Amino acid sequence: MKISKIFLYDEPAIPEIGFSRLRDFLKQTFDVQVEQRKNIFQSANDSIASEIAMSRIFKTRQPFEKHEPTTEEVSFEKASFLDSAKTENIVMYDGFEFHKAVTKLIPENERASDQFHIIFTNKFTCTYDQADFRYHGRALIASNPSVISTTGIIEAPAKPKAYYFELISNMTQGLNLESIKKKYQGMYLEYHDAKLSQVVEGYLLQAIFYYLTGDPFCDKRECRLFNAHWQKDLLYSQLEIAKLCDKHQEILNNW
Ligand SMILES: [Zn+2]
Repeated sequence: MKISKIFLYDEPAIPEIGFSRLRDFLKQTFDVQVEQRKNIFQSANDSIASEIAMSRIFKTRQPFEKHEPTTEEVSFEKASFLDSAKTENIVMYDGFEFHKAVTKLIPENERASDQFHIIFTNKFTCTYDQADFRYHGRALIASNPSVISTTGIIEAPAKPKAYYFELISNMTQGLNLESIKKKYQGMYLEYHDAKLSQVVEGYLLQAIFYYLTGDPFCDKRECRLFNAHWQKDLLYSQLEIAKLCDKHQEILNNW
């Protein structure tokens, strides 16, 4: 697959992704034209709102079942299109259904295979895993368009086991979430984390490698294509290592 142009769609609620910085990163890395666009939902209508509401997940231990959205749920989506920063509660969406809906927002004349679209959203995309029969959060839905969920980056890779253990054991004695958060600070990404922009670069690379080679991931932790299931690994690959392994760097050089 060949890419002539990349379209990047902003998530204005999360300025920490450093939208213009990411455009420059893509231009430098892939030597390709990059166009910045506003939030993809700017052009969304009521029918898209209803499709997105339909993709909500209610049962996390069952495969996706289409849900008939209520008027409130559709209004919630419409309000989020106007101001995505207003969303307070985390809603889970089926990543593939969500992807189907947002694909309709790509203009017809920009759907050629060499036009690659990457959509940022703070909506939480999840996919059902047949291996353990439950939904898991996903930071990236790799396809064209690709979807990068900022909430997925925070919530999908797990925090340290000891963090969850303390959280649960403290619940019985009156929870002090702030003190636990403080203790583990720096070991995982927080909402509006200043490190987010550099971490997002790794997901951009995964999205584009998937499109170019059919494989977004690398099994080496010392590579930005590593599929991190733990926050610790995500921070290691994207911040400490911050480069591709030799094999993937060579693929990039020859691209
Ligand atoms: Zn690699």
